[in-house]
Amino acid sequence: MTNSIKYIFVTGGVTSSLGKGIIAASLAKLLQAQGYRTTIQKLDPYINVDPGTLNPYEHGECYVTDDGAETDLDLGHYERFLNVPTSQANNVTTGRIYQSVIEKERRGEFLGKTVQVIPHITDEIKNRVQILGNSGQYDIVITEIGGTVGDIESLPYVEAVRQLKWDLGENNAIVIHLTLVPFLSAAGELKTKPTQHSVKTLMESGIMADILVCRTEHELPKDLRRKLALFCNVREEAVIQSIDASTIYDVPNLMLEQGLDKVVLKKLNLTSDKPDLSLWNKFLSRHKNPKSEVRIGLIGKYVELQDSYKSILEAFIHAGAANEVKVTVESIHSEHLNDNNAKLKLSHLDGVLVAPGFGERGIEGKINAIKYVREQQIPFLGICLGMQMAVIEYTRNVLGLTDANSTEMFPATKYPVIDLMESQKTIINKGGTMRLGAWECELVNNSIVSKVYGSKTIMERHRHRYEFNNKYKSDLEAAGMIATGANPKTGLVEIIEIPKHPWFVGVQYHPEYKSTVANPHPLFVAFVKASLKQKKTKNSVSMA
Ligand code: GLN
Repeated sequence: MTNSIKYIFVTGGVTSSLGKGIIAASLAKLLQAQGYRTTIQKLDPYINVDPGTLNPYEHGECYVTDDGAETDLDLGHYERFLNVPTSQANNVTTGRIYQSVIEKERRGEFLGKTVQVIPHITDEIKNRVQILGNSGQYDIVITEIGGTVGDIESLPYVEAVRQLKWDLGENNAIVIHLTLVPFLSAAGELKTKPTQHSVKTLMESGIMADILVCRTEHELPKDLRRKLALFCNVREEAVIQSIDASTIYDVPNLMLEQGLDKVVLKKLNLTSDKPDLSLWNKFLSRHKNPKSEVRIGLIGKYVELQDSYKSILEAFIHAGAANEVKVTVESIHSEHLNDNNAKLKLSHLDGVLVAPGFGERGIEGKINAIKYVREQQIPFLGICLGMQMAVIEYTRNVLGLTDANSTEMFPATKYPVIDLMESQKTIINKGGTMRLGAWECELVNNSIVSKVYGSKTIMERHRHRYEFNNKYKSDLEAAGMIATGANPKTGLVEIIEIPKHPWFVGVQYHPEYKSTVANPHPLFVAFVKASLKQKKTKNSVSMA
C-alpha cells in the first residue's frame, strides 16, 4: 500500500551547490542505521534525457549504475553512504519525463486530450517518485529536487511535490528545505533574510517546509534559530544547522547531533531509536588518524575540476582508510605531460592512476606517463581510457609497432589495438548507447586481480564504446602484457597486467563506481597498498 511508504522531499533555496545530495545521503544513513529501508532519488530539471551526453565541465562526473543508467554524480554519494545499489529509477530528468509523456501522446494514450504541464507532466513526475515507493523494497523514499526553488525549470517538480504532499497526507510526506545563512564579515553577522525569502518562494508554490536545514560557516545562535522558526513557520527543533565540515563523511554525525533524524521520524509518525553508526565511525577514525601517507598522481584532462573524478577521489578515501594511510592525490593535467618532463612530474609519486576519458585531447601525455611508470616500476592503475592507453603504450614501445593507436583517436591507424566494438558499429545515436552497466568478467588464476578480488568471476560497471582488439592478444602476451580478465560470453578483454612489473593493472571497467564506505573497492585498496610498498622500497633504497 502506497500509504505506508514515507516520502521526504529535499528542496534547495538561496543558491545552488549547498550540498543537498550530502544532506539527503546523511539523513538516509541515519534512517538506515535505525533499521528503515531507505533510498534516495534525484530529480534533475534539465532537458537532457540523462547526463551521459554532458561534458564533465557541466555537471561533473557521469555516474553509472548496475542497470546501466548514466546518472547524476549524487547517486554516487547515495551508494557510498548507504552501500545499497541505485538504479535508473533513482535519477529522473525533465528530458526523460517529457520523452515518456510525448511517447504516450504518440501512442494515443491521452484519448484526445490536450497534453499539458499540469496534470500530464506533473503526473509523470509523481509516478516516477512513487515507482521506488511502490517497489516494496523501501520504507522511506527521499527525493532530492535539483536546482533552486524559484527557478523556472523547477516549477513542475515543486508543483508535483505540492500535489503529492496533499495526496499522501500529513504524516506520509514532508519537505526539508535546505538554505544558506550567510555570514557578513563587515557586519560580523549571520543573516536570515535570504532564508526567509526562499521559504516564502516555496510558499507561493503552496508548499510549507516542515524542516529547515541551514548551511552556515558559523554556529547558529539560539535567538537566530528562534527567529528563523518564527518567520518560516517551522518549530524551533526543526531548524537544523549544517555547519561546514572538513569531510562529507562527518555530515551524518553532525545531523545526528542536530537531531535531524528525530524531527523527521516524529513528523512521519515513525519511532526513532539511536542509530547504530559503529562501522561508519570506525571508518571515520581510520580516515582521520592515518599512520602514514602515500602520494598518488591522478592523470586526466579534467583535473582542474574536482567533480570530474568524484568517484575516483572518494574511492581513494575509502581505500586510504582501509590501509590506515592518507592518500594525497596529486592532479596532473595530461596535456602538460610529455616524454621530456615525465620524470620531473612523476618521479616523486608512489603510484599513478590514469583516468577515464573520451577523445584525443591529452592522450599522448597519458601514454608518456604510462611509459615512465612502466619503466620505473611505479604502481599503475589504468581505468577505461587509462587501460586502453596502457595497451597502446605497450604495443608502441615494447612490441615496436610505433603507429599503434585506438580507432577512437585515429580511425585510419595501421595497428588498431583498441577498436570500436562490433556491436557499436551500427549505432548512430550518442545518448545511452555505450556499453553500459554491470558485466561479468572471468579472472585468470594467479593474476594480481584474482588475488585482489578473491573470486573467479566479478561484476563491474562499464561505460565505453571501444575495446581491446583480440587480434593483438597473443603478441602482447608473448611480449609480457597479459589479459587477466575477460567477459566469459564475448571474450572481450576487461583487464590487462604486466607480471614483470610490481603492480601494473589496467581495467576496461570503472571500479570506482562500486567503492563505498562499508565496502572499499578491493582494487583501490590493493593499489594503495602497492603504492605504500613502493614508498617503503624507495625510502629504504635512498637510505642505503
Ligand atoms: N573513450 C573510451 C571508449 O569509449 C574510454 C571511455 C572511458 O574512459 N569511460 O571506449
